[in-house]
Order: sequence, then C-alpha cells, then structure tokens
Amino acid sequence: MTKRSIAEDAQDVMRAAALIELGARIQVLESEVNLSRDRMIRLYQEVKGVSPPKGMLPFSVDWFLTWAPNIHASLFYNIYRFLTDLAGCSHFDALTKGYTLYLEHCERHDSYVLLSFTRAWTLVRFFNAGILQLTRCCSCTGKFVTRRQDTAHNAICGSCQPPSRAGKSAKAGSRITEDEGAGECTTVQPEVMDEMNSTLPGGDVKPEQQEASYGQAA
Ligand SMILES: [Zn+2]
Repeated sequence: MTKRSIAEDAQDVMRAAALIELGARIQVLESEVNLSRDRMIRLYQEVKGVSPPKGMLPFSVDWFLTWAPNIHASLFYNIYRFLTDLAGCSHFDALTKGYTLYLEHCERHDSYVLLSFTRAWTLVRFFNAGILQLTRCCSCTGKFVTRRQDTAHNAICGSCQPPSRAGKSAKAGSRITEDEGAGECTTVQPEVMDEMNSTLPGGDVKPEQQEASYGQAA
C-alpha cells in the first residue's frame, strides 16, 4: 500500500464515520474508503456503540422492482443522478447527501424509511453494472427504476398504477429493514412521484441533461 498522508487518512476516517452514521455496513465501507478492516470495525463500534452486523448484503435486484421499494428506489436514484449530473457532486457526496435528502423526504411526508443506506448503495451499483435503468412513466413523466432489458414503451410507474391491494395490509407504521425482503408497505405516499417531478428542476435543462434530471417534460 502506498504511503498516505495524515490528511488523507483523516478524510477517510471522517467519510467512514459519515457512512456508518447513515447505516452503511462494513462491506460498503470497504468499497468506499481506504481503511483497514480492523479500523473500520473499531470505528463502527465507536460511532454506533455496537459491533457491525455480520452476514451478506441484500443483493436482490427484484426487491427494487416490487411496488413500494420501487417508488423509494426511484426517488433516491433520481436525487442521486441529479446530484452527480447536474449539481456536479462526486459519487460519494451524491450517495451521502442524496440519501440524507431521501431521509428528509420520508420524514416530511410521514413515510417510513423503506430504503436502507446499504440498499441505496447497492442500487447505484446495479445501475453502474447496467442491470437497472431509469424509464420514463408515460402517465406522470417521472422516471422510475426498471430492469435494463424491460421495454420503455408505455411504461407506468408504481405511483400511477398501485397494486389493487395497496394500503390494505396491516403493516402500517412498521419499518422494513434490509434483512426483510418484503415487497409492499402501506404508508408510502402516492404523491412521492409527483413531488419527485416538481421539487427539482427539469424544465430548464438541455435534453441530454434531462435524462438525468427529475424529468418533468418541458
Ligand atoms: Zn407515473
């Protein structure tokens, strides 16, 4: 390993602490910062007061395509792309700031947090690997998460076409963690996508930029 400056090392420690605060697992830290595993575990214990959870990360692509997770994933990924493509943020800043904005959105709309930080990080990896893409909804014109090979023609997002049983289960108020593979919830606001289309600029950017924006048809 090349010799790193104290400042670089300090920056990695601060970044790792920020990631841990947001809920990142050790595997996420290993990918995003340059610290020894031993130091990451010690830092995790300092920040969280407990040992980091063991076990594999959630890795299912299908989870992001089920109804409620899809709405949350679409919200987060649109924010992430806005921050990287239009606001000039680095991947790290877009990930942390984007996830913080997502949390604030959930709080403001009294919706529980369905997308854990580690899931959000995994989502970005799936996009980078070309497994997922954003598709424009033909009804609300917002962009939502779909599989890469899915047809983009006449696609309708989960907010515009919720499943018939939406809102009828008894899970309201619960929080689905990354260890649960549940595919539905009841407190997601259908207005999420509307909000997504209206809160960030889309009408005054160039067409090629709009690909990454919140995508209100100009
Ligand atoms: Zn829609």
